[in-house]
Amino acid sequence: ESTHSVRRDERSREAFEEAKQYIPGGVNSPVRAFKTVGLTPIYAERGEGSRLYDIDGNVFIDYIGSWGPLIMGHAHPDVVRALQETAIKGTSFGAPTELETKMAKLVVERVPSMDIVRMVNSGTEATMSVIRLARGYTKRNKILKFEGSYHGHSDSLLIKAGSGVATLGLPDSPGVPESVATNTITVPYNDLESLRLAFERFGEEIACIIVEPVAGNMGVVPPQPGFLQGLRDITTQYGSLLIFDEVMTGFRVDLNCAQGRYGVTPDLTCLGKVIGGGLPVGAYGGKREIMEQVAPTGPIYQAGTLSGNPLAMAAGYTTLSLLTPAVYERLENISARLQSGFEKNAAEFGIPLTVNRVGSMVCPFFTAGPVTDYESAKASDMDMFKRYFGAMLDRGISVAPSPFEGMFVSGVHSDEDIEQTIAAHYEVMKSLQS
Ligand code: PMP
Repeated sequence: ESTHSVRRDERSREAFEEAKQYIPGGVNSPVRAFKTVGLTPIYAERGEGSRLYDIDGNVFIDYIGSWGPLIMGHAHPDVVRALQETAIKGTSFGAPTELETKMAKLVVERVPSMDIVRMVNSGTEATMSVIRLARGYTKRNKILKFEGSYHGHSDSLLIKAGSGVATLGLPDSPGVPESVATNTITVPYNDLESLRLAFERFGEEIACIIVEPVAGNMGVVPPQPGFLQGLRDITTQYGSLLIFDEVMTGFRVDLNCAQGRYGVTPDLTCLGKVIGGGLPVGAYGGKREIMEQVAPTGPIYQAGTLSGNPLAMAAGYTTLSLLTPAVYERLENISARLQSGFEKNAAEFGIPLTVNRVGSMVCPFFTAGPVTDYESAKASDMDMFKRYFGAMLDRGISVAPSPFEGMFVSGVHSDEDIEQTIAAHYEVMKSLQS
């Protein structure tokens, strides 16, 4: 019988109660509230490497990593140093800096589809802007997205969305005008037949397909062989643009992003998370001819007071510079170990568990599977998930408080971290059996 200490949460509880008086639901982004798992959120005090320390004195091996950005862990010394050196010279100028060009050059070198790139401040801004560009460039109004995919919270994209809206059961948010929603077509992920039917009906009106090349907001759902190429082919056939939303997958699943990993090149790409190294950044880019339709070279407007912010560029550039092929190899190895450890644990106790994984994105679904789209992801047993989540926290393992979000392994998770996580998971599976 192993011993473990249950998470303390008195101070977090008080902090949360106070926050609720001043902040809607106490949080600045919904999933942080732990609402669907019915627990008090962790109040972070500090992070270091793979560890997250909370205000109650608990320490967790963290697999949220700020929801994806922290691929080299919390407070990486190089990133912190770059921030200090940059901050002392001023935090924002509203004038161009050479650092922005340095960053753009590195991103463009690594992302196959990008000739040229524009920095913004979040993934939401990137996807919102890229949709306007696609519509302006093609002079078409409709867009096509996949059920259970999340592309930020702009009106056009908040239709049958994943992530927090799926977690909270609000797939079609109030406040999105009907007139906007009718221009968003949704079909199931990995379903080329439904896609073909949608294009037969609306193809000439479709400005773009926007897709997460690995779906990461309905848990983790890899593209089936041929799916991404099918998207490339049909958009080319109908004169629509193909947009990869790589806000989550960009520099997460490969040095050259998902498009490098799968060998399919979109017209436009959105980035976020990892490229900000933990600071607020998004980006969109692609073919020069399309991108130069954006102001000031073209008429399609998009701007930002803090876009290309020096601190964000410094953190992002430093993070990307740390990401060598050796880091991706290690991420692949330790993430595969986590996956097989979880599978073995669940099998031993007869618990139906499907562990999907692409690189360092790992997601255990409480279902016999396979999980290939939003429908099959929703089959994951919510009650089991809640018990699993709480039991993992009690054993010092922090995973996302939603069955629709995967785990993010970082390059600084140690072999011992992985072994400790698998051991904790073993105990949790044992406890779920009864
Ligand atoms: N696109 C994808 C694929 C995402 O995963 C997210 C955030 N999880 C976004 C867009 C939105 O990014 P942000 O939260 O930075 O606005």
